[in-house]
Amino acid sequence: MKLIHPGIREEDENVLISCISRLSNFSLAASEDHHGVKVFCPPISRYVTCNAVLVPHNRPVKVDFFGIRGPSEGIKVSLKCNHCGFFYGYSKYGNPQAGWSLYETPRVAIEASDVCFVELSLLRWQISLSCHCWVSFSGFSVTFNEVHDIVGGLSEKSVANAFWNGELEAELRLREES
Ligand SMILES: [Zn+2]
Repeated sequence: MKLIHPGIREEDENVLISCISRLSNFSLAASEDHHGVKVFCPPISRYVTCNAVLVPHNRPVKVDFFGIRGPSEGIKVSLKCNHCGFFYGYSKYGNPQAGWSLYETPRVAIEASDVCFVELSLLRWQISLSCHCWVSFSGFSVTFNEVHDIVGGLSEKSVANAFWNGELEAELRLREES
């Protein structure tokens, strides 16, 4: 929040962050324009184990977002529960002792790294292209950057990380179903 509004008071910031986490698929964009700032936060504000109100964990960080309609900036917000010591990230919650769990519903984006998010629909393109058209991670990265006219945008490594993280999550969800 400080990235957008440097002068904001901490109490106000905490209230806003806990409100934002109650919204689904939130974007600070006024329209569907992909240049809006995306906010990546846990899908919950209180939950899962003890129903205590979650509080911000660390300062929100600036991240890169690569979506089907192009790149944009994003902000990642992590929350924690002071009661049971669980951390709530964008795509999973838990802690090193108890282990980590996925949220019930898949998120809109996959975390390629701590500071890079790839939209799930873009990842589906990548997977399908690699299966049917022999497109490499590098080829997908070059193509995405060329189409959206950006230099050094979506890296080969981010494409690969999004792929592996996405596959891992899909596998885990499949096992949970069966
Ligand atoms: Zn708790």
